[in-house]
Amino acid sequence: MLKKSTILFFALLCLAESVSAARMPKNVIFLIGDGMGIAQIYAAMVSNGNSLELERLKHLGYSKTYSSDKFTTDSGAGGTALSTGVKTKNGMIGMSPDSVCVETILQQADRNGLATGIVVACAVTHATPASFIAHQVNRNMYEEIAADYLNTDIDVFIGGGKKHFENRKDKRNLIEELKSKDYQIAYSIDEVKKTNKGKLAGLLYEEHPPVASVRSDFLPEATMSAIHILNNNKTGFFLMVEGSQIDWGGHDNDIDMVVNEMLDFDKTIGKVLDFAEKDGNTLVIVTADHETGGLTLPTGNIEKRNVKANFSTKSHTGVPVPVFAFGPGAEEFTGFMENTDFKNKIAKLLKLR
Ligand code: MG
Ligand code: ZN
Repeated sequence: MLKKSTILFFALLCLAESVSAARMPKNVIFLIGDGMGIAQIYAAMVSNGNSLELERLKHLGYSKTYSSDKFTTDSGAGGTALSTGVKTKNGMIGMSPDSVCVETILQQADRNGLATGIVVACAVTHATPASFIAHQVNRNMYEEIAADYLNTDIDVFIGGGKKHFENRKDKRNLIEELKSKDYQIAYSIDEVKKTNKGKLAGLLYEEHPPVASVRSDFLPEATMSAIHILNNNKTGFFLMVEGSQIDWGGHDNDIDMVVNEMLDFDKTIGKVLDFAEKDGNTLVIVTADHETGGLTLPTGNIEKRNVKANFSTKSHTGVPVPVFAFGPGAEEFTGFMENTDFKNKIAKLLKLR
């Protein structure tokens, strides 16, 4: 007969096992606010009545964004660090500084049988989404980047950039090639929303989607459609979502654009969190590739919901950006991190090999 202490020991072992198993996510949704620093977040928070969906993520940290060759990163090197775990030179996509291709977290997830997706408020060939699926020496090689979408078996990608798929110097029609690889092609948000399963290429705009007020709920709706499709995979999924145009408001030193793009991104975060809360097996990470505009808010009025915005540059800055996490594994994304830490942490939590 087993002694009581032995039984207790095994009971505790089982408990420890189930607790550690419960901490492992099945799905990861990685949301990147391009150019989103703490001042951009706070400007949106004040204008939204002193609250944001972002506040629902309780694990916070910072990410150091410098690239391999510059104090201030661009979105190519910034996205590449987040996706591959390697710091590279500004302008490069999915490659180390010596031009060697590095597998991205999305490609690793795909190789391990997870469903994968990209949803962005810009052309899918732009630097940030490109960093998750393409390998090119220069971020401006849009046609080469578009062709790279056919080299990884990504399940869902939604954004703009249609012209880089069908109006090409090499005369290839990548939309026809995608169809022959069993992709459903959507040219409108209604077509996206009608798709429940299978592979989907949503190319809704020739180049970039318009600003938030004009494109309406494109980003939250496309994101939820992607989740709906990817969630069919029993093994799990990895989805990258980008609030792409926060950065562009920063470059223009346009605080209204920054706030509108932030609120659109925050609405998307809210919908994602609703899913993650219900699902219980989804890790949600929100961060930025860098800050844009050197934004400070010397004064403002909480009741009147306004801020005075001072921009100090038309470019990016080198300040660390905030990291927010929710769900199983969220505690891994606290404290000061390098932007190269995300890939390995996510891979480890998803048990990718
Ligand atoms: Mg971007
Ligand atoms: Zn930028």
